[in-house]
Amino acid sequence: NRKLTVITGASSGLGLNTAIALSKTGRHFIVMACRDVEKAKRVASENGMPENSYVVMKLELGSLKSVRDFVFNLKAFKSSRPVDNLICNAAVYRPTDPEPAWTDDGFEQSMGINHFGHFLLANLMVNDMSKAKDARMCIVGSITGNTNTVGGGLVYPRADLGDLSGFEQGAKKPIAMADGAPFFGAKAYKDAKVCNMMTVSELHRRYHDSTGISFSSMYPGCIAETALFREKRPWFRKVSTSYPYCSVPLLTKHRAYNIQAFPWFMKYVTGGYVGEVEAGERLAQVVDDPQCSKSNVYWSWNGGAQQVGRWSPDGKPRGAGGSGGEIFENTQSDAVQDRDTAIKMWDLSVKAVGLT
Ligand code: NDP
Repeated sequence: NRKLTVITGASSGLGLNTAIALSKTGRHFIVMACRDVEKAKRVASENGMPENSYVVMKLELGSLKSVRDFVFNLKAFKSSRPVDNLICNAAVYRPTDPEPAWTDDGFEQSMGINHFGHFLLANLMVNDMSKAKDARMCIVGSITGNTNTVGGGLVYPRADLGDLSGFEQGAKKPIAMADGAPFFGAKAYKDAKVCNMMTVSELHRRYHDSTGISFSSMYPGCIAETALFREKRPWFRKVSTSYPYCSVPLLTKHRAYNIQAFPWFMKYVTGGYVGEVEAGERLAQVVDDPQCSKSNVYWSWNGGAQQVGRWSPDGKPRGAGGSGGEIFENTQSDAVQDRDTAIKMWDLSVKAVGLT
């Protein structure tokens, strides 16, 4: 009677800790969809996941063929039983690369892996998941893709899909950015996160009523210790100002800003920092908690920086996503809610991944 729950990128960081948290509940059988099968098997066993609570299956999101193969193999594995939960979690972040790296299909990697691979996977799973009761699909987002989390923004670079002319031209080498501009690694990641969050809203509008699937996104909080920052040297992890996630809402009586802060500042001053284990419990909650069955929600947690929340312009408590706190339905940025761009992004993504 366990739920069948697929997690991409379950071999590290947030995905692994989500898999661990769900395996402990005894309510989920987990398909760890990973690019490095041996690594995933090793970390699952090292972390004491009960052997009968999971299986590892190959998924390389930088290859559309691998995504299709994964869906095929998954069907063979589970037979007619539908998938209950799909968590699209895997991501790469390449802010310091001077030149773009490309996926097998010729997409810039941040967009190709984080968005296009998951876009194809999500679309291929809708029909199957429509057969499950209380099915949930969550694509992990970020406040970095949500430029005005609480009003204004001081975050640089800002996510901006522009007129999507890069997508219009096919989004393949040598075109690196969604807006067709020259490669900018930190922005490419943020643009991909905006696409992730727009994909959730569009999935909801297109399929929620007809399939009953709940589509959601979430921001796990700033988890400075994950390997996502593997591209960076250790000192950078500690002190960089261009750290992508560690944005904290700075709220005054009249305006709200979203500033980027040092990880140690997040940890010790604002409290906007969350450990891997707790972050995993948060993502697990989104698919496991009965109170998270609502569709088209961007889940966040109001832990940390509670004292700032008292001055929130709309009067709602908002922490910085740090440890502790309650889950709440966050507001998406105007950029994410821009329906015209979302439709264009969807149509061009359909073409790019060959779904037509
Ligand atoms: P990690 O780097 O620890 O984990 C990323 C996972 O994605 C790994 O399992 C990695 O596999 C996998 N992955 C990378 N490339 C591919 C690929 N081509 N195909 C398949 N799997 C791949 O990062 P996090 O745990 O921090 O990030 C997880 C999610 O959380 C991401 O969506 C990220 O955007 C989001 N997030 C993270 C925040 C943070 O503060 N860390 C804040 C906000 C959002 P492998 O183990 O083989 O490297």
